[in-house]
Amino acid sequence: MELRKDPITRSWVITGDDPVEYSPRPETACRFCPDAPNATQVISSVPSAGAWSARSVVHPTPLYHIEGEAGRHGDGIYDRMSSVGAHEVLVENPRHDRHLWNASDDEIGQFLRLAAERIMDLKRDPRIKYVSFFKDYGSNAGQEFSHPTSQITATMFVPRRVLYELRAGREYFVSKERCVFCDILMQEERQAARVIEARGDYVAIGPYAPRVPYEAWILPRNHEASFERTGLSKPGLRVNLAALLRRTLQRVRTFTEDFHLVLHTSPNSLHPSKTLGYWKTIDDDYHWHIEIMPVLATKARSYTFKEVYYSPVSSETAVRQLREAKIEG
Ligand SMILES: [Zn+2]
Ligand SMILES: [Zn+2]
Ligand SMILES: [Zn+2]
Repeated sequence: MELRKDPITRSWVITGDDPVEYSPRPETACRFCPDAPNATQVISSVPSAGAWSARSVVHPTPLYHIEGEAGRHGDGIYDRMSSVGAHEVLVENPRHDRHLWNASDDEIGQFLRLAAERIMDLKRDPRIKYVSFFKDYGSNAGQEFSHPTSQITATMFVPRRVLYELRAGREYFVSKERCVFCDILMQEERQAARVIEARGDYVAIGPYAPRVPYEAWILPRNHEASFERTGLSKPGLRVNLAALLRRTLQRVRTFTEDFHLVLHTSPNSLHPSKTLGYWKTIDDDYHWHIEIMPVLATKARSYTFKEVYYSPVSSETAVRQLREAKIEG
């Protein structure tokens, strides 16, 4: 596996001929349950009254490896480097049936704390430019393990979508001296047509221009570029974020079980990069958020193969339906 940069869009892709057959392997025993015989190496745990409440383990087939040199080099007009970084599995809950939508807010809060700790820890490596976590749930979303898990990746490049957001955030800030995400939140809360739910310092909204039906974003109301800083410095806030995440996933699940979830947080600014100007204003012009992209099986085709995102449910209708969805509370 290696990383190649598309010279036109400047986005990195991971590619190569994978020696591991890319088909879901039948799991005999769950390797993420407590006391699993085939357990993977534990990196970090959040202790609780029992043994642990959430923990991070080595990914059994990692896409990125912590050892080695990136060896970034040119090949004519092209750029490539080896896939140096980190790839971990975040076990959200010791119980095999406790997911982010049916676990307690305290358990979800523990998972969020673990995610924040791991991101902060991986950012101490000066080679790492970006760290985040994501979750794919359901067979149409590429779910890998049956145990409730998310995955964390630490890369030597900033992923494409985040790079777009960072550039756009900086441009907006240069002309208006305001954060574009803060401005979006202010308008959304004023208009209230696309607010799914507000809870304490966090808000769930349907984006104005959704990429898929029932797309939802969760953002902190007060400006904050870095999720991990919020997650570690304001422990009380995790309760509201946990509840909002749980309730938003419950709402989404009334339409489809399958979804992608990703955290977008600020890149590694512990080790500033001289070449990238946005590092200087990053704390002012970026605003962390969680994106939830539901996968509707019947509608998947239309947005998978199109160059332009096509969402056959408007944001306003989707938000109204999400708000009215019957959830457990
Ligand atoms: Zn399990
Ligand atoms: Zn902001
Ligand atoms: Zn984003």
